[in-house]
Amino acid sequence: MIPYAFNYRRAQSIAEAQSLLKGDAKLLAGGQTLVSAMKLRLAAPSDLIDISRLKELTFIRREGDALVIGAGTTHHEVATSATVEAAIPALKVMAEMIGDPAVRHKGTLGGSIANNDPAADYPAALVALGATVKTTAREIAAEDFFTGMFSTALDENEIVIHVSFPVPERAAYAKFRNPASRFALTGVFVSKTKSGPRVAVIGAGSNVFRVPAMEQALATNFTADAIKGITIDAGDLNSDIHASAEYRAHLVGVMAQRAVSSAS
Ligand SMILES: Cc1cc2nc3c(=O)[nH]c(=O)nc-3n(C[C@H](O)[C@H](O)[C@H](O)COP(=O)(O)OP(=O)(O)OC[C@H]3O[C@@H](n4cnc5c(N)ncnc54)[C@H](O)[C@@H]3O)c2cc1C
Repeated sequence: MIPYAFNYRRAQSIAEAQSLLKGDAKLLAGGQTLVSAMKLRLAAPSDLIDISRLKELTFIRREGDALVIGAGTTHHEVATSATVEAAIPALKVMAEMIGDPAVRHKGTLGGSIANNDPAADYPAALVALGATVKTTAREIAAEDFFTGMFSTALDENEIVIHVSFPVPERAAYAKFRNPASRFALTGVFVSKTKSGPRVAVIGAGSNVFRVPAMEQALATNFTADAIKGITIDAGDLNSDIHASAEYRAHLVGVMAQRAVSSAS
């Protein structure tokens, strides 16, 4: 056992969390990733700044053509929200597929995107919907936010406040789960927006990515048939004990067609 101690502080406001977030301190949201990482000594923050009870970060609201969700909102809250279902039903379906009930009741939108696990679901939704991340310092377009495996554009002491999702004409998410972890072996989020279709993939590569060939095909014909023959190069995809890169490339095509077929 490696001895390790840390300070625990429960922030009463975003401003207080920001002032406490210094040096090796880390924010604690749902703890679904951070606590395991600490247990394994993969992370050893000096201070945990608990933001899980901040009402300022926990909300879901429709603002004109956008759905705005606070960073502290749990996956369960998204999965059971009538506001989400009315605006972007695909987002509700996606949240329902995350982990298991315990993970969904604790895990948060902000924690998920700040962590940017390559097999996490939210990055696909943010990129496919052209979302914007609002932080304590600025606004970041989703495509600029996810910079690589477990890395984001967030500065050391930057806090995610909310994500603004433009409401699409249609959207859907299809996920092929790893049966053990429930994370995505491959997941594809598709949307039909005013500026054209978008296809975002997670689980297959080291970071979320778009598929321009599919987007072009869907621009003239938003049907599963339109993307049937489009193949993905396995060269850049992940290969591990769960699935080969070739299998993941195949899954991208299958999941994309399923998503387009069910888009509403
Ligand atoms: C068994 C299991 C199965 C899972 N299955 C899935 C799945 O199928 N799909 C999926 O997408 N995810 C899955 N997850 C991940 C889970 O859904 C959580 O979203 C994820 O663990 C992080 O969210 P959290 O709120 O628990 O963050 P925490 O663990 O508390 O924090 C994670 C990181 O984000 C930082 N952070 C938290 N909030 C903010 C903020 N507002 N601003 C800036 N930084 C912040 C923390 O400092 C930390 O570095 C699974 C997790 C487990 C344990």
